[in-house]
Amino acid sequence: MASPKVVGIDLGTTYSLAAYVEGGQPVVVRDSHGTALIPSCISFFEDGSVLVGSAAKARALADPEHTIFSIKRLMGRTLKDLHKELQLIPHQIVERETADGRKVLHVRIAGREYTPEELSAMILREVRQRAGNPTQAVITVPAYFDDAQRQATRDAGRIAGLDVLRILNEPTAAALAYGLDRRRQGTIVVYDLGGGTFDCSILSLSDGVFQVLATHGDTFLGGDDFDRALMELIAREQGWELSPRDPLLLQHLRDAAEAAKIALSSQESTVLRLDVPATVDRPARQVARTLQRQELEQLLQPFIDRTLECCRAALRDAQLTPQQIDEVVLVGGSTRIPYVRRRVAEFFGKTPHTELNPDEVVALGAAIQADILTSGRRDMLLLDVVPLSLGIETLGGVVDKVIHRNTTIPCRATTRYTTFVDNQTAIVLNIYQGERELTKDCRFLGTFKLTGIPPMPAQFPQVDVTFLVDQNGLLTVTAKEQRSGVQAQVTVQPAHGLTREEVEQLVLESIEHAQEDFTARRLIELRNKAEADLRHTAKALTQAGDQLTPEQRQAIDAAVENLRQAIAQNDLTVLQNALDAFNTATQPLATLLMNEVLRRAIAGKTEQALDPTTI
Ligand code: ADP
Ligand code: MG
Repeated sequence: MASPKVVGIDLGTTYSLAAYVEGGQPVVVRDSHGTALIPSCISFFEDGSVLVGSAAKARALADPEHTIFSIKRLMGRTLKDLHKELQLIPHQIVERETADGRKVLHVRIAGREYTPEELSAMILREVRQRAGNPTQAVITVPAYFDDAQRQATRDAGRIAGLDVLRILNEPTAAALAYGLDRRRQGTIVVYDLGGGTFDCSILSLSDGVFQVLATHGDTFLGGDDFDRALMELIAREQGWELSPRDPLLLQHLRDAAEAAKIALSSQESTVLRLDVPATVDRPARQVARTLQRQELEQLLQPFIDRTLECCRAALRDAQLTPQQIDEVVLVGGSTRIPYVRRRVAEFFGKTPHTELNPDEVVALGAAIQADILTSGRRDMLLLDVVPLSLGIETLGGVVDKVIHRNTTIPCRATTRYTTFVDNQTAIVLNIYQGERELTKDCRFLGTFKLTGIPPMPAQFPQVDVTFLVDQNGLLTVTAKEQRSGVQAQVTVQPAHGLTREEVEQLVLESIEHAQEDFTARRLIELRNKAEADLRHTAKALTQAGDQLTPEQRQAIDAAVENLRQAIAQNDLTVLQNALDAFNTATQPLATLLMNEVLRRAIAGKTEQALDPTTI
């Protein structure tokens, strides 16, 4: 095998592997036995040495306490994000706070502590070694991974000695592997059923540009559940109790169940065999049970129903029907199961792509992307999207969205803001992510201050706030006051990410609360506007009030009083009406003032009465 310099890596929850491009074709990296998949499994020894891959998985049988699986579930998370994961990973997981206030998880194993990044790096190192130690890589992540999870994956790559060229979405990689980018136009569903997770992503393709339209899934649904269902069937029939205190029996039974499940993908029947030695607590366990494919399918049915529910939800999000889907791609080892293929074909009404190995397609696609990035072939653009809207807090706790959810990245957007009080020399910018209208319902990402704005009257400064999301989904915010040229910039790196459930929850909530949010937001905005208008009018009255007729003056005073009361009432319609009336009443004053400003400008006078207020 040639030693590639650059590889694509599928860093999976249960299996990982690498691929590279040779002579224009992507090929998977295999060991001397022809095996490509490396179990994402690490085994620790008391002396600090570690074993990664199938050797570690084999040792898990004898020493489950010193073996760790499913590290991907911990990447970029905080303890608060983890619930079910903690039951799944039988190690002590602790959270430490760093000096700069970031929360970092640690897994305690064999008397030492490791971060998820370090553990993933051990797997990546094994993958890398098998590929002949390349120095550069594209690493894939699920489409729903947020900034923190992507960042953690990138960090793991760095720890493993890799220059991570790009973090790529798994479904996009799968579509690339099938060469679907060569279509001019199309809508593609990627159905990914792996070991522990299920993802359904809908991509749209237009002139070589991929876009993720929607993604849905279940982070606790996959081949492990099928194994578990088989294990429970056997235990029930044998009258055993499956206790976590008997890890030896559990491991053996799990292996036997997985082997039987895999056999049933190519045979109509198989024999599940088990031979576990006795322990002090129980006798030896022996089983030889003949299983029919049909029996397995019955066990799988509720799980596959759930995956199709997710597909339905993703279609709904993308506002598409199954008939509008042009291509269906199967990804993940569990899609080798004939029953899964049948159900998916039925659901979408078309035969899914299965020409490539479903557990290799993601790595193959990552290899293609790595090749594009390093060979300078720029004939293809790969675009992903911002998973949740990004915005700035404005007065009253309202989030003003600068970049909307599902905008393709890289992207840039600028919004102009101004000040609400005179002589404001600094502006604090609070950055939020989420779909809701108010900051209290969104996730706080970071803050920074634009200082050194020269004193100017309220509403004079022109502060352009620019959000830039780069290829890897990382956000940089820049603020520039246009009149003076002062600027500030911050790269936002969230201390921790949102869980997928949270992302979905946030999206759901934003739909549920859309009306009530809209009203709350509108009310705050109007109240802010009314207060600013009152201040400006008071000031204008001192400047030009004496030029008003008594009727005009009276009308303004009445409108001011009316508006004050309306502000106190918190009713959208009342406030809107009061503001309208106020605007009509103050019209003559505005005209007077405008003439005054013009007159002064012509006379070359530019001095302004300034209030000594700052934020
Ligand atoms: P990951 O979740 O890491 O992306 P994979 O896509 O490699 O994992 O899927 C692993 C799952 O696929 C495991 O549950 C494994 O038992 C299952 N699997 C692999 N081959 C087969 C097969 N021939 N039939 C049924 N299940 C399979
Ligand atoms: Mg996978």
